[in-house]
Amino acid sequence: MAGTFDISLDSLAGLSVAPENVSSEGLSASRQLQRESRTATGTLDGATFFLETFGCQMNDHDSEKVAGVLLSRGYKQVESPDAASLVLYNTCSIREKAAQKVFSRLGEYRTKQAAGQVIGVLGCVAQQEGEGIFERAPWVSLVCGSASYRKLPELLAQIEAGNQRVTGLDTDTDETFETPVTRRDNPWRAYLTIIEGCDKACAYCVVPFTRGPERSRASDSVLNEVRELSELGYSEVQLLGQTVNSYADPSSRRMRFSELLLAVADVPGIRRVRFTTSHPRDFGADIVAAIELEPKLCNHVHLPVQSGSTKVLREMVRTYTRAEYLEKIAMLREAKRPIAITTDIIVGFPGETEADFAETLSLLEEVRYDGLFSFKYSPRPNTPSLSMPDAISEEEKSRRLAILQEKQREIQGERNATLLGTRFDVLVSGKSRRENQWSGHSACHRVVNFTSQEANLLGTYVQVLVTSAGPNTLMGEQVT
Ligand code: SAM
Ligand code: SF4
Repeated sequence: MAGTFDISLDSLAGLSVAPENVSSEGLSASRQLQRESRTATGTLDGATFFLETFGCQMNDHDSEKVAGVLLSRGYKQVESPDAASLVLYNTCSIREKAAQKVFSRLGEYRTKQAAGQVIGVLGCVAQQEGEGIFERAPWVSLVCGSASYRKLPELLAQIEAGNQRVTGLDTDTDETFETPVTRRDNPWRAYLTIIEGCDKACAYCVVPFTRGPERSRASDSVLNEVRELSELGYSEVQLLGQTVNSYADPSSRRMRFSELLLAVADVPGIRRVRFTTSHPRDFGADIVAAIELEPKLCNHVHLPVQSGSTKVLREMVRTYTRAEYLEKIAMLREAKRPIAITTDIIVGFPGETEADFAETLSLLEEVRYDGLFSFKYSPRPNTPSLSMPDAISEEEKSRRLAILQEKQREIQGERNATLLGTRFDVLVSGKSRRENQWSGHSACHRVVNFTSQEANLLGTYVQVLVTSAGPNTLMGEQVT
């Protein structure tokens, strides 16, 4: 893996600190953090951080945990990079565009280091590019990959001590990133990572390289955090993992994923439990049975298919055929409660013919998903598909993507139209500038905009009657 290296535990607990052979421009970095005074408890007083996140929900949640670590060290969070002594980017590298974005952002901050600011890159791009980031952007002082966040306190201590080049890039850890303090962005819905990394080997994907092998959190630790969240007033929890349903309880309880779902739902005060992302291979009837049994388990499953062609699925190493995937869909459709199904699709994988693409379109027709995230194939470093023949041109990928999205728009419009006159339980999370207009999510994860005369609904659950529907949102009014 590019830029990754192992360091023994007794050498700074896995941290690497490069020699102080930095430019005069480099020497000013971290001075500001050095200048901040230490309090009696050893935490920093007066230091500030700005943290920008690009990427998936797991990245968002990692950032919440990173913010928790910084706050516990005495840093204060600020809204603008200009006001921060420490500027951090937590970035996704799943597609090339996301990776490019961070370098263009770093370019904007080239001059900031001279003004005493410390710049750091976290996440998958950091893991992937490693120390190469120092070459491309010498004004960066901290590079920390997504598998090394648990070492952040030590990394920060190095930065605060004035080191100019600090890295945490090892992936061969069996630990998960748990921190006593997590600063959550949403006051009602809490993310909770239950499994990190990925042991699947999809031919196009960087995640196994950037996030390391699968590590599950002990069920007791998960349940303790859910109890704490409930006491803090959270009523919805979303269990996260790249392949969340591959969860394997490392404790002696050996709870299955479906048992963990039920145990989380059983915590007093918890009203909704979500989980994402499920891998089709590990998606069993016990998960559907749990959703049927327990109304607090949200009736929504995100089950990425990636392609409707068995030939392409084989090339992608997805470990299931179109027919096997459709068996999982049939299982979900036969459930006693209606379960919303969403998916991810990649178009333009190397060698994808017009006939393969037509199979993806026909799968869309067959399943009739409630939502779709669609992507043009993006060649990524280190992945097996990088060297596959028969690349598809960007123009052709764009054409297929547009056709796919238009088909899904039609399907969603038709599906949502059938929901007119339905009542949904909505967790209210937003208020529009327009008077009496609110928005939130149903248990089946649909966005619902609605009118109500109530004064303050944020964080509450209300009943909404659907009065009109578009492909992406439902509109309605609060009913008692
Ligand atoms: N673990 C999940 C799974 O197995 O479906 C997906 C996690 S990934 C962060 C989210 C989505 O990004 C994938 O489902 C896939 O559709 C898309 N993706 C991953 N690598 C990609 C690539 N190289 N090019 C385009 N899309 C990609
Ligand atoms: Fe990537 Fe495949 Fe793992 Fe999902 S299951 S994170 S797509 S390697």
